[in-house]
Amino acid sequence: MEATLTFLGSGTSMGVPTLGCDCAVCTSAISPDGDPRNRRTRPSIRLAYGGHTVLVDTGPDFHAQALREGVRRVDAVLYTHGHADHVMGFDDLRPLSFHAKGNLPIYADDETASAIERIFDYTFRTEDRYPTSARVQLHRLDPAPGAGVDIFGAYFRRIPVTHGSQQITGYRFGSAAYLTDMSDIPEESLPFLQDLDVLILDALRHDPHPSHSHLEKSIAFVEQLKPRRAFFTHMGHDLDHATTEATLPAHIRLAYDGLQLRFEIA
Ligand SMILES: [Zn+2]
Ligand SMILES: [Zn+2]
Ligand SMILES: [Zn+2]
Repeated sequence: MEATLTFLGSGTSMGVPTLGCDCAVCTSAISPDGDPRNRRTRPSIRLAYGGHTVLVDTGPDFHAQALREGVRRVDAVLYTHGHADHVMGFDDLRPLSFHAKGNLPIYADDETASAIERIFDYTFRTEDRYPTSARVQLHRLDPAPGAGVDIFGAYFRRIPVTHGSQQITGYRFGSAAYLTDMSDIPEESLPFLQDLDVLILDALRHDPHPSHSHLEKSIAFVEQLKPRRAFFTHMGHDLDHATTEATLPAHIRLAYDGLQLRFEIA
């Protein structure tokens, strides 16, 4: 089964342009003669396959991203972790969840599920629940590396990744993997990242960072894991799209908002 993956956002937590910044990349991101690929909203992806729409994360830009890409329905959402740039669009699932037949299924590891329950507690209250809260059913993922769930005929495996001092969740689905907010890949996750067509990796900037992979390190992961194609995401204003991409081998590209890829998901 073929799937289409759309980058709803490809930016780091602060987005590009970064508020208050006048650097060349931030200026290029919004000026009429700049490079629109430098305009990076907060990171998430949409997967479309078999007539279904599945999201990985809903960041604070989700409302604008959904309008831009014409997202008119969502059938499931998987979350990577509970940081603001990945969960703050959760409330914008409300109108989309009302159209669903049952409750919209949400998948997350235990720590992320607890963060979502805490931040959006009015959604999950059993008494005095806010009446037009999102109609969702939160499913906690099996913590074992590589364990997963079948979602509309595609198998999503949980791939633990290191995000600074935390361990968070990346996903493998069919011939693709999405590893955002990753400073390292633990040994136990490597067997689940073989024979990839598409590998999407965090690459924040040129210089090393305590909780995100940087360009050189992400290139090394690509060389180690040997996917057919790799795309970098969660990028900050350090990376100008055209000049950075010109330094990369042809099978490694920088993602940009709205970029679409096709791959086999099942
Ligand atoms: Zn992030
Ligand atoms: Zn800047
Ligand atoms: Zn994060």
